[in-house]
Amino acid sequence: MLQPSSRMASFVFHCVPAIKVTPTGLWLAVLIAVAPFPAVGQTTDLHQDRRFDALTWVQNSAEYRMLTEQTFRLALHPLITALNDPSITADEAQLAKGDFAEKPPAIILDCDETVLDNSAYAARNILENQSYSTETWNAWCMEVKADAIPGSLKFVSRAKALGVEIFFITNRRDVVKDATVENLKKLGFPASTENVMTKNEELGRGDDKVSRRARVAKNHRIIMLIGDSMSDLCSGMNLSETAQRNQTGNRKFQQLGSRWIMLPNPIYGGWQQALPADKKALKPKLPKTNTKPSPSQ
Ligand SMILES: [Mg+2]
Repeated sequence: MLQPSSRMASFVFHCVPAIKVTPTGLWLAVLIAVAPFPAVGQTTDLHQDRRFDALTWVQNSAEYRMLTEQTFRLALHPLITALNDPSITADEAQLAKGDFAEKPPAIILDCDETVLDNSAYAARNILENQSYSTETWNAWCMEVKADAIPGSLKFVSRAKALGVEIFFITNRRDVVKDATVENLKKLGFPASTENVMTKNEELGRGDDKVSRRARVAKNHRIIMLIGDSMSDLCSGMNLSETAQRNQTGNRKFQQLGSRWIMLPNPIYGGWQQALPADKKALKPKLPKTNTKPSPSQ
């Protein structure tokens, strides 16, 4: 995403070259440079901010709460099925490798917008006319003020009581690991420095979470994967186009609701980065591939 300074520079030095060559033009350039210049996604009118509706739905609607509660309640049934069936693993890499039937069962949950509600951070950004940045995000994580996603704590507690090991694999960075463990513990989740696995690309713990799932799979049978992003579920999900993402989602339908559980996140995610520009993301006529599962399902 272009930041205000780079957009401003682009405007001054590429769009209006004439202002560079006269004294008046130079003053104009200075005025432009000191004027507020909203970044992508920013506007002075809250209701025109593209993030506003998504966020107010998450923070205010009974429907969002009911949807996440429902998702976690329904997830208990396949969890119990998988507990009693050693042929089941939710991890495609583990399934391909085999040798998991005798291992103790575990589930892997993503953190943000899966068990941790960070909507307050998003609300601050809208109110302060800011976009996401690593600095403000890490500062938010250090505040240890994320709430629990409705239904998540009850589900995790029930799974733990059934003898399932809990792992959290998050793309929060190592620098906020202790704060993340503290936040999860404060809410009642069984979190520790051992079962919360943060991201560090230099150390081989990348965005795709593959190496971290492999670490869990070494000693556990992964019976369920839960997240709000496709990459929380298996490898090869970091796709850059909406059509590719939907085709892949269709191919994986058989895993949904049993081994893979998906939470709604209309605020941000890979889906947003994969959108075509502006109005091309709107479909007045729905493509058939988006409405039906593939014939093999
Ligand atoms: Mg997430």
